[in-house]
Amino acid sequence: RIIYQNRAGIGSLHSGGKIPLGLQRKGLRILVTGGAGFVGSHLVDRLIARGDSVIVVDNFFTGRKENVMHHFGNPRFELIRHDVVEPLLVEVDQIYHLACPASPVHYKHNPVKTIKTNVVGTLNMLGLAKRVGARFLLTSTSEVYGDPLEHPQKETYWGNVNPIGVRSCYDEGKRTAETLTMDYHRGAGVEVRIARIFNTYGPRMCIDDGRVVSNFVAQALRKEPLTVYGDGKQTRSFQFVSDLVEGLMRLMEGEHVGPFNLGNPGEFTMLELAGVVQETIDPNAQIEFRPNTADDPHKRKPDISKAKELLGWEPKVPLRKGLPMMVQDFRQRIFGDHKEDSS
Ligand code: NAD
Ligand code: UDP
Ligand code: UDP
Repeated sequence: RIIYQNRAGIGSLHSGGKIPLGLQRKGLRILVTGGAGFVGSHLVDRLIARGDSVIVVDNFFTGRKENVMHHFGNPRFELIRHDVVEPLLVEVDQIYHLACPASPVHYKHNPVKTIKTNVVGTLNMLGLAKRVGARFLLTSTSEVYGDPLEHPQKETYWGNVNPIGVRSCYDEGKRTAETLTMDYHRGAGVEVRIARIFNTYGPRMCIDDGRVVSNFVAQALRKEPLTVYGDGKQTRSFQFVSDLVEGLMRLMEGEHVGPFNLGNPGEFTMLELAGVVQETIDPNAQIEFRPNTADDPHKRKPDISKAKELLGWEPKVPLRKGLPMMVQDFRQRIFGDHKEDSS
């Protein structure tokens, strides 16, 4: 049974009462960088529920206090305003390193800052992991595959990335972050884990972050046309956030370094996605075509055989089940808690 909690928490979608082996209460001290963001805040909810003590470090570039304020007052929760580009001294057992803007609109806003966050920020968190002997998990991205020439993408594929394009600050930044992670592992014996995350959606995404799912949902709710970039035939594979959080925790607790693809293999063109949004919110929503952005990958779909085999993980929430949970959250945030949209 899906239990949908207040404050857009994803609740016990996965545990269903039974907590998988390895994810049981441990009382660890865990640092989550970027923990006030979309993915980070859902991860924090699961860690707190498991009984861990969590320190969130966030500079609030794209994160919001509202995403974690339901933990204020809990002695096992601490929120620190801090930029990971600066050194950090804390004592923890595990580090989930998520700090980095994820939406193309946000990461292109200040590309040099995005590179510093990915390179200097990751270096600092690895230095911290080395000093305190913590296990370190990097949230890398499917963008390391660039505009892929292999489809679907396996972890063994090295990618097709433009090093001098407008997306490079993010995809080359994450590629360097992966390199640093492996070099601290090989050179300094730091225990590391690498996740390559594919497009993820769900409650608490920034409403106007420019990503396609948040754009379409907000547009349909506001009775604006859905903006399809290019011809709309490019594809993405959309994962609900609770599936990702489950995968990240299994990866952290498991024995394997990775990299592991974490994504939902269900592949949709942007026009098909617009169709699902119409079905879910408003069958009369119009579609408006806009020019596409530079270096936009034509297709993207994870091969998740490795995560299935070694982590026993696969996504459980298809787009048509996950989207309504996000719509409920967006509706509340756009129109206010009690006001219903007229549709
Ligand atoms: P998000 O923008 O909601 O969260 C990122 C968080 O990091 C925000 O709270 C932001 O304020 C914080 N942050 C950014 N720069 C920082 C800095 N220099 N110091 C401290 N905090 C900083 O994005 P998200 O979707 O939650 O993504 C989380 C992680 O997952 C990112 O590393 C992203 O690259 C990765 N990822 C996400 C997706 C996705 O579809 N959501 C896909 C691939 C990879
Ligand atoms: N660092 C940090 N917190 C720590 C330990 C290190 O932020 O607890 C930073 C440190 O400031 C440095 C980076 O991590 O910039 C890499 O540290 P490391 O010890 O690996 O390298 P070094 O300091 O010798 O260059
Ligand atoms: N896109 C779109 N309309 C929008 C926003 C994005 O058609 O309003 C397209 C975009 O061109 C890309 C895909 O949707 O092909 C996914 O974009 P997003 O920014 O969500 O994530 P990406 O996978 O590119 O990082």
